[in-house]
Amino acid sequence: MTTQINSEQVIRRLYQITCDHNKGFEHQVNELIQMGLERFGLDIGIFSKIEGSNYFVQDCITPKDVPMMPGDRFDYDATYCSITCSAMAPVAIEHVGSDKRFAVHPAYKAFGLESYIGVPIRLNDELYGTLNFSSPTPFFRKFLDIDIDALQLMASWIEVELIRREQEAELRKLNNKLKYQANYDSLTNIPNRRGMHRKLIKGMNHLNRMSGECTLAILDIDYFKKLNDVYGHQKGDEALVEIANKINDSLRDYEFVARLGGEEFMIWLPDTNSKGSSIVFKRVMKSISEIKVTSEPITVSIGSSHYKFSDNKQVNLTELIDDMMGKADKALYEAKQQGRNQFKHAEQ
Ligand code: GH3
Ligand code: MG
Ligand code: MG
Repeated sequence: MTTQINSEQVIRRLYQITCDHNKGFEHQVNELIQMGLERFGLDIGIFSKIEGSNYFVQDCITPKDVPMMPGDRFDYDATYCSITCSAMAPVAIEHVGSDKRFAVHPAYKAFGLESYIGVPIRLNDELYGTLNFSSPTPFFRKFLDIDIDALQLMASWIEVELIRREQEAELRKLNNKLKYQANYDSLTNIPNRRGMHRKLIKGMNHLNRMSGECTLAILDIDYFKKLNDVYGHQKGDEALVEIANKINDSLRDYEFVARLGGEEFMIWLPDTNSKGSSIVFKRVMKSISEIKVTSEPITVSIGSSHYKFSDNKQVNLTELIDDMMGKADKALYEAKQQGRNQFKHAEQ
């Protein structure tokens, strides 16, 4: 076998592989292994991950008679890569069988590979795995510094890409967390006012297309200031969490509860008329009365407003939400005025 591509071609191929980022990391690594096989004129190319005593094949290219697949696991100590990793440097062996140090290695006994060239891959200053090429036949000449340089160049590309992918994943996670924080209440883990608005617009859009109907309610805890004064703010917070959970548990999948702020919650009931919503409110109130945070039962007041979409009417959904909120708030005020612990439907 002869070396088929030179260092300049390696650099050019690496550039092409880098440009192929839209094809995905797995594809790029496979291209890189293919290039390595051509560069060294060897038969087996592996990108591995090492975790403890496990050697995982992340990607590989092998001849048909060497059945190996990404995901395969080997005993790390029984691979030539354990030599590479303990040296923390590239290792190149042209003819293992004639090398006193390596002919006794368990990997030689297990796989009988005669030639091997491998390099550790590091991520954040720690061992990640290896990039290695091998063959059941001895290498046709001596491995040269220029071979090691080419291998290290390929390994560096993988290292840079691993770091880039790790940072990208962290940014994505952070972005999701920020999105969550912007739309959810940190105490109760239910949507906040902003999250509520987004969900309402989505839900109303759907109802608008179907000419459906809906109920929007505002729930306010009765004498919550007193609860805080008597039991302390901590217990008040506990009550808020419990109430959010109880409301959530009383609703169906497509309904939702949001925290408007303070001790006020919004309940969204699509496909529900006044009669249907009365049943939900009774269930919610009963469930809240069973909370054991205080010695006396917690009661709430609810004001609701109802709307029916019709197919020949253009609706500004933001205005509709404001209007329904206003009506529900007025009904809530009446419920408070008339002695609390009750619900009131707004006039339509
Ligand atoms: P009403 O029956 O008329 O609704 O009386 P109320 O005492 O519930 O109403 P008011 O609006 O006077 O008091 C609301 C209280 O809610 C005041 C405030 O200290 C408390 N509160 C608002 N946000 C929080 C919170 O996040 N945690 C706790 N523990 N208390 C809160
Ligand atoms: Mg209030
Ligand atoms: Mg209140």
